[in-house]
Amino acid sequence: MYIKVAVPRPVDSFFDYEYDDSKLGVITQGDLVEIPFGRTKLVGCVMETSQTAPILPPGIKIRSATGKIDSDFSITPDVYKLCQFGSEYYQYPIGEAFFVATAPKVGKKLGTRKEKPSTVVRGDKTLNEEQALALDRMLTQISVKQDSVFLLEGITGSGKTEVYIDLAKTVLARGKSVLILVPEIALTAQLKDRFEHALGEKIALWHSALSDGLRQTQWLKVKQGEIKVVVGARSAVFAPFHDLGLIVVDEEHDQTYKQEERFRYHARDLALFRAKFLKIPTLLGSATPSLETLQKVREMRYTHLTLTKRYSTRPLPEIKLISLLEEPLIFNDQVKTPIAEKTIKLMQETIDRGEQIIVFLNRRGFSQFILCKDCGWIKECKNCSISMTHYQRKNELRCHVCGQKTQVPDACESCHSHELEGMGSGTESLEDELKLLLTGAKILRLDRDQVTSQKRLEEVLTSFRDLEANILVGTQMLVKGHDFPKVTCVVVMMADMLLKWPDFRSSERALQTLVQVSGRAGRAELPGQVLIQGYDLEHPVLKILKGEASHDGFIQEELELRQHLHYPPFSRFVRYRFEDQDAHVLNKKTEKIAKLLRSGLKEEGEARLMGPSEALLFRANHQYRFDLYFKAQSVQELFSFSQRVKKMALAEEIDLIIDVDPYSS
Ligand SMILES: [Zn+2]
Ligand SMILES: [Zn+2]
Repeated sequence: MYIKVAVPRPVDSFFDYEYDDSKLGVITQGDLVEIPFGRTKLVGCVMETSQTAPILPPGIKIRSATGKIDSDFSITPDVYKLCQFGSEYYQYPIGEAFFVATAPKVGKKLGTRKEKPSTVVRGDKTLNEEQALALDRMLTQISVKQDSVFLLEGITGSGKTEVYIDLAKTVLARGKSVLILVPEIALTAQLKDRFEHALGEKIALWHSALSDGLRQTQWLKVKQGEIKVVVGARSAVFAPFHDLGLIVVDEEHDQTYKQEERFRYHARDLALFRAKFLKIPTLLGSATPSLETLQKVREMRYTHLTLTKRYSTRPLPEIKLISLLEEPLIFNDQVKTPIAEKTIKLMQETIDRGEQIIVFLNRRGFSQFILCKDCGWIKECKNCSISMTHYQRKNELRCHVCGQKTQVPDACESCHSHELEGMGSGTESLEDELKLLLTGAKILRLDRDQVTSQKRLEEVLTSFRDLEANILVGTQMLVKGHDFPKVTCVVVMMADMLLKWPDFRSSERALQTLVQVSGRAGRAELPGQVLIQGYDLEHPVLKILKGEASHDGFIQEELELRQHLHYPPFSRFVRYRFEDQDAHVLNKKTEKIAKLLRSGLKEEGEARLMGPSEALLFRANHQYRFDLYFKAQSVQELFSFSQRVKKMALAEEIDLIIDVDPYSS
């Protein structure tokens, strides 16, 4: 017998082996086999079996598979399909994709940890009228169309989770399993208790920070049907259920669903593929849905359900916009970050009341831009409609997407003021500055530099919850899911950094982030306030937050802009990142590749290829990075174009990283 095997190596091809079925038994697609590979031994995934010998190049002798891994570890048929699709769509080697979906340490059973036998008591909670109506509509529609997709849009605290739970119960009652995806950061023991209690069923928490032993045990139990519910981060999309009946994607807009290294898949999008393949329903939940999802609603492909009533009677926090143009700022040699006196006053009052503050930094600030200190204007690229990045040494502005360059203008193009200044750095010193300006400030910091493990994250959050500090300074990481009853004040230091991040999704993402950040203030009985400092407070996103502009109008305008510029959801956006140690050589080679690619495109297509441009983070890990961006009109075009780029990079001997639907710059 003969098999084609995919190996966990960065290659697109498969390898032929023979095997002795009297020794190894029956082998089928998705089984894992031990094979000799070069001078080593590997475990590979079987893609095809055949009775006829393959035709090999002359002089090559077929080798034999040496073993078969216990079929408990085999890849299930729908996960096999999922990996195949994911590998093709995200341009990731198929053999490596399979090994993202397998259990850790295949073949070696690490032994189940003795768990205390526990009985889970189900606690029923009745839905309010609005929730019940949403559930009812879903059940009716599923009875007509099995693979329906629903968007459940509801503000924070409107009880989306109760709806997930009740829908999940109906699926479990039919003997099927349920997969619930949640943003990575929200995974806490609290969540497990909540779902177990509500469903009356043991669940598995699934994320990358678990030990190999626990992950393997859970993987095997899910496959054997012993665990019927998984609540997990993005990698749970590969959980080996064989009787999956529902997928829920909570906070579907969340950026942590996109894997940012190696296999750069988007868990929501893979979830939708898996559900469609299995003909089962998908429920997407969000307070601020992505434009991708909203566009599908407009095309009538998804059913839109809304929850407008807040479950509790807690009032929404008060939003206070603090203008960095009009309010007196702290003027001090030691303070580099622009902070209004009013902001410090309100923060001090919060500390004096014995309450807590969350200070939100947009992200680590390596993006620099030129801002008009009189009106808040920021130069944007005409082609791409994103903020241009300031290069101090050459005193020029560049678009990091299309590479367009321009001199820093003498005057603001909006109000003609000469007060133009570089912005974007200095956030690292914020902790020291706040200590200086506030009496009795005890500060904790939470960002990816400081918090490198799940354990450290839990530690910081626990000590903040235990009131060991009164200020928590952090990035994106702290905006999600955490409940701190004593937090009554949330401060956004510079909204412009968020609103003008050089990315076509900046407005959409700013709105999502600010809504979530605001949700952190006043979660318990204490009233909350959100202080948003910024230069340009006329931005539509801030008006929506204040309730002065409609969300629908904003979405309409954003979608029109995206359509006009061929951005997603109206195209497939892909980034080709070329890396090399020599910046000069890399630049030349990338220019050559871009030229060749353009010559292969028709005139209307030329504009869809942008660059080469220096990556926003130009040098990382001793490698320089140049980017090309392409807006493909179809998945087919995306595939064929990517194949060409791959061949060219190979010929030029430079490293290439392909990111389809990239979310980070
Ligand atoms: Zn541009
Ligand atoms: Zn101006």
